[in-house]
Amino acid sequence: TVDEPPLLRVTGVTKRFAGLVALDDVNLTVPAGRIVGIIGPNGAGKSTLVNAITGVHRATSGRVELRGRDVTRLTPHRIARLGVARSFQSTRLIDQMTVLDNVTVAAYSTADLGLRHALFAPRQVRRRDFAAAVRAWHQLDRVGLTDAAARRPGELSYADRRRVELARAMIMEPSLLILDEPAAGMNPAEKAELTRLLRAVAATGVAVLLIEHDMPLVTAAADEVVVLDQGRVLATGTPAEVLALPEVIEAYLGH
Ligand code: ADP
Ligand code: MG
Repeated sequence: TVDEPPLLRVTGVTKRFAGLVALDDVNLTVPAGRIVGIIGPNGAGKSTLVNAITGVHRATSGRVELRGRDVTRLTPHRIARLGVARSFQSTRLIDQMTVLDNVTVAAYSTADLGLRHALFAPRQVRRRDFAAAVRAWHQLDRVGLTDAAARRPGELSYADRRRVELARAMIMEPSLLILDEPAAGMNPAEKAELTRLLRAVAATGVAVLLIEHDMPLVTAAADEVVVLDQGRVLATGTPAEVLALPEVIEAYLGH
């Protein structure tokens, strides 16, 4: 219906660290099925925004809502269980396990539980969770990495490790997928493939929040772009609208 709340709504979120305003009155919405890109120079507050949405850092003030439900003060675990999955700016893969197992353990409702199972009882995990392994295989197929399923993350290129991270996020079947610089280390062909993949994910109704330093990728992939600068929203609009703004060219492309 028309008055259905957006999947994600961030209202007036401010985050202060001792002596520093990392986010200053940030507003944004991400509807289901849409890709919203966040761009901005280093230190703009992009990762802090992700942390505020996922409950890692509680906002100093303001509100984060998922489908109209206030989640501002929920723990990361509770927020994850409400259908929010993220990939991290630095990869968090476990090199003692295969690529397939890295994705499989992410299917558990909490990453920590999956990790503990994986480290202390890998055989049992494999037996009990054949179904999860099949789902993991499917996700590896989506990101084009089935050939690497039996390898260790450390043997893969940085770009391929980012793709494993993406498979780990997607196996949770999130309603909101948050990606922090997923294209770092990727070549143009890999970035084009990532763009196609994100569009396919969004087409299934998933809301995607794409944090990226890479302006061409964001403008190719996103339906809407939010420009952050020094913790403030400098501009919001379609990629074409945002790219035409002199203050955006100065603040972002000027760096
Ligand atoms: P971006 O991801 O856009 O590069 P960040 O969100 O990482 O920016 O950082 C925004 C600002 O907040 C920076 O000035 C950074 O130093 C500061 N900051 C981020 N995390 C912390 C923290 N845990 N404690 C103190 N300052 C932080
Ligand atoms: Mg960051």
